[in-house]
Amino acid sequence: MIYTVTLNTAIDKIIKINGVLTRKMNNKIRNVSFDIGGKATHVSVVLSKLNINNIATGFVGSENALTLTTLLKNKGVTCDFISQENCSTRESLVILDDSGNGSFMITESGFEILEESQCKLVEKLSNQVTKNDYVVFAGSPPRGFNVDQYINIVKTVTDKGGKLIIDASGDYLREAIKLKPYLIKPNEFEFQELVGKPLNTIDEFIPEMKKLLNDGIEFVVVSLGKKGSLVGTKQSFYRVIPPVIKEINDTGCGDVFVGGLVASLYKQTSIEDMLEFSTALSASKASQNESSSFCLKQTKQLEAEVKIEKLEAYSI
Ligand code: ATP
Ligand code: MG
Ligand code: MG
Repeated sequence: MIYTVTLNTAIDKIIKINGVLTRKMNNKIRNVSFDIGGKATHVSVVLSKLNINNIATGFVGSENALTLTTLLKNKGVTCDFISQENCSTRESLVILDDSGNGSFMITESGFEILEESQCKLVEKLSNQVTKNDYVVFAGSPPRGFNVDQYINIVKTVTDKGGKLIIDASGDYLREAIKLKPYLIKPNEFEFQELVGKPLNTIDEFIPEMKKLLNDGIEFVVVSLGKKGSLVGTKQSFYRVIPPVIKEINDTGCGDVFVGGLVASLYKQTSIEDMLEFSTALSASKASQNESSSFCLKQTKQLEAEVKIEKLEAYSI
C-alpha cells in the first residue's frame, strides 16, 4: 500500500482576476473555483489518476472536512484522515491574473493539532503500515507543531519497516534525514538551506548529495523548477532537463513530481523511465491552471522531450 500524509491540509480557493492585479483598483473576479490544497494530498491525486491504490491521511478540521474529502474522492482518492473537532481545514487563496507572471498565494497557518490527534495518527500508521509500504510525508506541519512531534509521527513508518519519502524543508527535513528515508525531494532552495551554503554548479551540488546517499538514503532528488532536477542514487547521478512549456502555474509542480516518482517506484520501472515520466508529468502540471491538474495525454507527448544525462564522471 501507499500512504500519503498531509499534516497541514488545505483547500485552495482559486480566484481568477480580469487583467493584471493592481493596487488601489477594483480588481474584478472572473471566476472562483475550489481545489485540493497540497502537499501529500496531491501525490494521492497523481496515484489515483494512475489507478494506483493509495490512502490519504493526516489531519483535517471537522467543520469543513467534507469539502476536502469530497474534492479528493471526486479524484478517486481514498481518505482516512484524523478529524479534529471544532476546527476548520485552512483555505489558501490562489490569485491568478492575466500577467502571465505566475500566481499570488495567500495562506492561513492552519489549526493547532492536539496531542490527542497526534496520538491517533501514530496509532493509525502503527496499525496499518507494513514492511515495504511507501509512506509519503509532504509539506510542513502547522504552527505549534515542533520537530520532536513531527519526528514522533514520521518515525512510526521506519519503525514498521515502511519506505519513507520526505518532501519537507528546514528542521523537519534535517531531522527526518536521520531516519534514513528511502527518498527525499527538496527543491534547490530547501537543499541549500539544508547544507547551509549556496550551491551554484552541479559540481557543488553532487558532493552534498553524495554525503546524504552515504548516510543511507536511496534516492536524493533535488528539483530545480523549470531547470529540471539533479538525481542521485548509490550507483549513479543524473541531470534531468524538462521540456519547454508555456508556464501557467508552477504551484504544486513538486507534489506532482513526487507523485510521478512514487508511482514509478511502486511500478518498479527503470530509473530513466521514472525520471522521464515524473519530469513530463510535472511539466504538464506547470502548463495548467490548477495546482493539482495535469494531463496524462500531454505527459506522454512531453516524455519524448525530456533530456536525461547520466553524469558518468560521478558514477560509482
Ligand atoms: P512546490 O511548489 O510543489 O513545492 P517545488 O519548488 O518543490 O514545487 P519545483 O522544483 O519547482 O518543485 O518543480 C518540480 C519539478 O517540476 C521540476 O523538477 C521540473 O521537472 C518540473 N517543473 C517545474 N516548473 C517547470 C516549468 N516551468 N517547466 C517545466 N517543468 C517544470
Ligand atoms: Mg519551485
Ligand atoms: Mg516543494
